[in-house]
Amino acid sequence: KAPTSDENVAVIGLGRFGGQVADSLTRLGHEVLGVDEDPKLVQQWSDRLTHVVQADATDEEVLRQIGMTEFGRAVVGIGTDIEASVLTVLALTEVGVREIWAKAISTKHGKILRSVGAHHVIYPEATMGERVAHLITSRMLDFIELDDDFAIAKTRAPRDAAGRTLAEIGLRTRYGVTVVGVKKPGTDFVYAAPDTVLPGNCVLIVAGTTEQVQRFAAAT
Ligand code: ADP
Repeated sequence: KAPTSDENVAVIGLGRFGGQVADSLTRLGHEVLGVDEDPKLVQQWSDRLTHVVQADATDEEVLRQIGMTEFGRAVVGIGTDIEASVLTVLALTEVGVREIWAKAISTKHGKILRSVGAHHVIYPEATMGERVAHLITSRMLDFIELDDDFAIAKTRAPRDAAGRTLAEIGLRTRYGVTVVGVKKPGTDFVYAAPDTVLPGNCVLIVAGTTEQVQRFAAAT
C-alpha cells in the first residue's frame, strides 16, 4: 500500500544541508524522494533514499512528471543558486505542495522565498552561529530560540543558588525567566516547583524571552 502523502517528503537539492535532511528523514522512517540535477549526487544517494531522481526542479512540468503532486511536504535545500531556489519554491507552490520548507542563505533570500510561497524558511548558518555564540560565552549548555523571540535554554545554575528553593532565589522576579526543570548531576530532570531545592552543580531548563534567557545565563 502506498503511504499517504503526509508520510512522504520530497527533498530537493541533495547538497550538505538537503542531504542531511534526507538522511535523517529516512532514519526516522519516512519515505523520501530526493531530487537533484547533478547526476553524480543522484548516483551517490540512489541506494540510501526511497527514490532519487535527476531533474531540474525549477520546472513545474518536470515536477508534475516526477510525481510531486503526490507529496504533501517538500524541503528545498538549494542555497547557493538563489535563482534556482526561488524558482523551485514557486514551482512547488504551483503544483500545490501544501507545506514547503526552504533553506535561505540571507535575510533577503528568505524574504523572497516567503513571498513566493515558502511556509517555513530555515537559516542553517545564522541559527547555528547564534547558538554557538551563546554556548561559548555564558553558562548555557544548550539554547533553542523558538518563534516570536521566545527561547528555552539548558544552563548551569547560578553559583549562589545551591541549597535554596526556587521561591527563595526568585529567578522570575530577578530575570523574568521561568525554571521548567532541574537536574542533579547523575539523575534525570525533574519538573520544577516553587519548593524545589536546588542541589549544588545542578543544571536548569529555563524559558523566557530571548533577552531574559540570555541575561540570566550571562549572570554569575
Ligand atoms: P549546500 O551548501 O547545503 O551543499 P548547495 O546550494 O551548495 O547547498 O547545494 C544545493 C544542491 O542543489 C546541489 O547539489 C545542486 O546540484 C542542487 N540544485 C541546484 N539547482 C537545482 C535545480 N534547479 N534542480 C535540482 N537540483 C538543483
